[in-house]
Amino acid sequence: MASRRLLIIGLIAFLAAVAGVFVGRILVDAPRANETELHALLHRELKLSADQEKRIHLIEARFAARRDALELEMRAANIRLAQAIDAEHGYGPQVTQAIDETHEVMGDLQKETLQHLFAMRGVLDREQAAMFDKRVVKALTADAR
Ligand SMILES: [Zn+2]
Repeated sequence: MASRRLLIIGLIAFLAAVAGVFVGRILVDAPRANETELHALLHRELKLSADQEKRIHLIEARFAARRDALELEMRAANIRLAQAIDAEHGYGPQVTQAIDETHEVMGDLQKETLQHLFAMRGVLDREQAAMFDKRVVKALTADAR
């Protein structure tokens, strides 16, 4: 009986971990995919000058490091969420707090992603910026379609 109980606890812990990772994937990958799509647009369709290309690459390098850091934080928050689910087996105070933490990191990631996009937009001329804006709106409403 004891081993069966252990097995069940192990299974719950495993499911909690999988759920944490899965939720994290969805939260982190969505803005990343949109941002990647915009980068593709910048490089392929906007016909950047050599100077613009250089400035945008600097902005991207800076953001890539910051995004990696935030994604690590996101993974850590997901592990805490999995642990909280494992500890409480329900919607208790630890789970609530872990979810709030996850949202805080996600919010930071979204804010910094947008700041990053606007920094890149600042490099564009008026015509390029208009195309960029159109794509941003499209990327942001992609889920709603
Ligand atoms: Zn790029």
